[in-house]
Amino acid sequence: MYKTTLHILFTDVTGAHRRVSISINGKPEILEGIMIGVDGSSIPGYSSIEKSDLYVKPASSKIIDLSRFNKGYWVPGKIVMHDGREHPWDPRLIADKLTDELHNEGYISRVGCELEFYVVENVEYRLGREKQYLLVRNISRNSIEKLGRSHYASNVSLTMEEPFTELINVLNGNAVTVSKIHRENGFSSQYEISLAPSSLVGLGDDILLAIASIREVLRSYGLTSVFLPKPFIDDYGSGLHIHVSLWSGDRNLFFDGSELSNIGRYFIGGILEHAESLTAFTNPSTNSYRRLIEGFEAPVYVSWGIGNRSTMVRIPLNGGRIEIRTPDASMNPYLGLSAIILAGLDGVKRKIDPGDPISYNVYEKREGKLRRLPRSLEEAVEYLISDNEYLRPIFPRDLLEYYAEIKLREARRIRSIPGIVDYITLEHLA
Ligand code: GLU
Ligand code: MG
Ligand code: MG
Repeated sequence: MYKTTLHILFTDVTGAHRRVSISINGKPEILEGIMIGVDGSSIPGYSSIEKSDLYVKPASSKIIDLSRFNKGYWVPGKIVMHDGREHPWDPRLIADKLTDELHNEGYISRVGCELEFYVVENVEYRLGREKQYLLVRNISRNSIEKLGRSHYASNVSLTMEEPFTELINVLNGNAVTVSKIHRENGFSSQYEISLAPSSLVGLGDDILLAIASIREVLRSYGLTSVFLPKPFIDDYGSGLHIHVSLWSGDRNLFFDGSELSNIGRYFIGGILEHAESLTAFTNPSTNSYRRLIEGFEAPVYVSWGIGNRSTMVRIPLNGGRIEIRTPDASMNPYLGLSAIILAGLDGVKRKIDPGDPISYNVYEKREGKLRRLPRSLEEAVEYLISDNEYLRPIFPRDLLEYYAEIKLREARRIRSIPGIVDYITLEHLA
C-alpha cells in the first residue's frame, strides 16, 4: 500500500484556516476513529495552557482527492475536547447549532457563494515579526498579464486553462459543486468560482475545501492564488458574495412567485439593521476595509437594490435568493454565514422594514442619508461590542468578548508597526 497524507481542515475564531495532517496508507476509506491530538493553547481561543490538549476529528464524508498532484486527501474537521465533548467555540459547531435552531423554527437555509481571487506568478513578501503572518507589500504585475486580462474573457490564456480544468475536475469529482468559473473584472488576473447552494455547514466546509484545492492545484503549476480582499489599491478587490434563501420543505419563503415576500423583505431589513456590526465577522481583517471603497463594485453604503451592483444587498434579477456583497475570504465561513443568517432572522422576528430598494448607482448619488459601512476593523468591532444581541441565541457570550478583544488587538498591532501595510494569515494569502 502506498503512503499518502490526510489533511484535516478546521478554523479558529479569528478566521484562519488551519490543518493537521497524518500519514495514511492509500485512499482513506473509513474516517471513523481518526482523532489527532493538537495543542489547543497555540490556537487562538481554544484552550488555556493548563487544559490544552484537544483533538481534531474528520467531520464530513466529503474528501477532496489531490493525490494526483501528490498533495494527499483533504477533509473538514471538528474540534473535540479531552472528555469527548465538542468544543463550544468550534465555529463549525456554532453553524451546526444554528442549523438546529432554524429547524426548530421551521426553516431550512440554502447558501451559495462566489469566491473571487487573483492568480499571480510570484508574491513579494517579507515575513512579519510573528511567523504565521506575511506582510503583503507588493505583488508584481508584470508576470501576470499573460494570465488573461478582461472580464469573462474567453481567451483565458493557456497558462490558466489546464490548472482550472484540473481544479474543476477535482472539486466536482468530490462533491463540492462548482456552478461557474470565469475571469473577473480585476485587470491583474482576477478569477471567480461560484459554489452551488448547500446547507449552512455544508457551504462552510465547501469554502474551506475550495480554498485549499485552489491553492494547492495552482501551486503545483507554479502559480499563487491570492484571497486577500484588496491586494492592489487601484484595482478591484476580491469578495466572497453570499447567496441566501430560507425554505420550508420545497417552498422558497423569500418569494411569492417572482415577488419578494414579507419574510424576504424583513430578512433584508435585519441584514441592513445590523450591517455595521456584521462586518466584524464578514470582513475580519484590516485589509478588508481597503476593499469597501467606491468605484470597484464593492459595497460602501448600507443599502439594498434589485439587480443593483452598487448596493450592499442585492436581489439578482434571475431571482430566488438574496445576495450579500460585503463578505470577503478572510471571514471564518462558519461564523460569517451564521452571523448573516442571525441578522436576517432578527429582521424577520422584529418585522424590520428595509425601505424601498435603491435603483440608482450609490457611488454617484446618494439620496437622503445612507449609513456608511465601517472604515476600519476597529470601527467594525466597536459596532459589534454595542450591537450583538442578535447573535446571542447561538454565539457564546465569552466567544463574542474574546473575539472583540483579539480583533482590536490585531488591528492596533498592525497600526503600530511602522511601514506595515497589512498583515494577513498565511492561509488567507496563498
Ligand atoms: N469584485 C467585486 C467585489 O469586490 C465584485 C464584482 C462582482 O459584482 O462580481 O465585491
Ligand atoms: Mg464577481
Ligand atoms: Mg456576486
